[in-house]
Amino acid sequence: MNAEIKLTGTATDLRPFFGGARQAGGAGEMDRLNPADGKTGQSLPLCSQSDVDAAVQAARAAWDAGWRNLSSGERQAQLLELARLVSAHAEELGRLDSIEMGKPMGDAVFDAHVAAGFIAYAAQAIDKRLGATAPHEVGRLEVQQRLPRGVVGAIVPWNFPIINAALKTGPALATGNCIVLKPSEIASGSTLLLAELAQQAGIADGVVNVVTGGPEVGNWLVSHPGVDMVTFTGSTATGRMVMAAAAAQSLKPVLLECGGKSPQIVFADAIASLGATALAQACSGAALWNQGQVCVSRSRLYVERSAADELIEALLGHLKSIQPSHPQQVGCAFGPLASKAQYDKVCAAIAAGEASGAKLLIDGRKTAAPEDGYYVGPTLFVDVPADNALMREEIFGPVIALARFDSEDEALRLANDSDYGLAATAWTTDFARAHRLGDALEAGRVAINSAISNKPGCWQAHASEPWKQSGFGAEGGMVGFDAYTRLKSIQYVFGD
Ligand code: NAD
Repeated sequence: MNAEIKLTGTATDLRPFFGGARQAGGAGEMDRLNPADGKTGQSLPLCSQSDVDAAVQAARAAWDAGWRNLSSGERQAQLLELARLVSAHAEELGRLDSIEMGKPMGDAVFDAHVAAGFIAYAAQAIDKRLGATAPHEVGRLEVQQRLPRGVVGAIVPWNFPIINAALKTGPALATGNCIVLKPSEIASGSTLLLAELAQQAGIADGVVNVVTGGPEVGNWLVSHPGVDMVTFTGSTATGRMVMAAAAAQSLKPVLLECGGKSPQIVFADAIASLGATALAQACSGAALWNQGQVCVSRSRLYVERSAADELIEALLGHLKSIQPSHPQQVGCAFGPLASKAQYDKVCAAIAAGEASGAKLLIDGRKTAAPEDGYYVGPTLFVDVPADNALMREEIFGPVIALARFDSEDEALRLANDSDYGLAATAWTTDFARAHRLGDALEAGRVAINSAISNKPGCWQAHASEPWKQSGFGAEGGMVGFDAYTRLKSIQYVFGD
């Protein structure tokens, strides 16, 4: 019990990586605090605008040198080797994420294996995706090819650092692009290690590059004339800025995976069938995974009035049993929030909710936790009105806002009453109702009777597109693979 995995504080190389080597970073350093104790931090070397330019030039040189012209078999072999190396280094990649942004070690190592799966899936797709030919005509052949776009600028957030980096790197490289990644300034280490592993896998220098820094560095990357496509995962507010900056420079394509405020609907029949305790665990799992720092967190909980008290009782028991602990402590299931800024934001949202008169049944700011560090325990508000900020704004922390409903129509209306549309869950044993809700819920990922909308096994094949202010363009699966290609048609005419 309480044994510490001996990894905390390990010196980590956070220098940017481009052109096949670690670089100094020409814009000084940013000091960061360890979210687990609020003290010992690492410094992140920051890229200057000329570093960003050099990274893009390195990617362009690798493009010109013919990464896209490698035989599909060679590219596949190198990417499969990268996937193998990511799995083999899962412990180390997980450690980097865990130390930098406070994710429990076990979850972070799991993430690295998922990331390896995304790269392997993209590699395996290389020789499965075929082009097309137009209907046959004598003397004429029209073929459609999917070609890489060129240099991809990829910006990722801190909440699932290695997964988000792999989700972009796998398909971008598999389709023949070169990439410049900008990880979050809060969690950069695993993306940097991914670039080094790509080099170890035999992938040519310059194909994978990583620039380090914050918004300014991201903006330089997006606006760089040498970047042919932008792929972004992060908040809706930043997504807007990214889109505007990219459009101001040129008409390069932009893929945006942004924020969410997802609902789950619980009907009394599901509580009767599954039991309030099991449902309380599942519902809170869907909301609180990664301390609630998940784009698809189902933090708006709508419960059928006749069974609401029973579920609230079970939620109280379950949520109070969750004890935050040091993320590198063996068995940690609930760690700190990722940063001081995130901690302040979540605490402010709870305070504002309380001030608004919403009923605060569990206040995570008061949950017992390690003394220092950015810990906020599970928080539960009940009977929250639909127009309250707790129901409307993404908090990105462990805060559940519950409301009661009387009919299926009302539940659906409440669930769809959101600016966002990433995910939704409904719990019911009524098949016809499940089918109606599956169709009518306005979200890219809908799960019926499940806390999540994908599972290992079908995870990598899974693709969906965000709705509303959650973005556009799909990641994952073959659709996500194709997103990194442009379509070209060539007509060969042999005497009309
Ligand atoms: P964020 O928007 O603050 O930052 C995301 C990335 O953008 C970071 O690398 C950041 O440095 C960079 N950035 C910030 N300003 C920029 C600018 N002006 N130009 C270019 N780049 C800029 O988001 P975050 O706090 O890191 O992550 C949390 C957000 O990400 C949440 O809103 C969450 O819902 C979202 N998210 C979405 C998905 C999805 O698939 N839809 C997945 C994970 C996270």
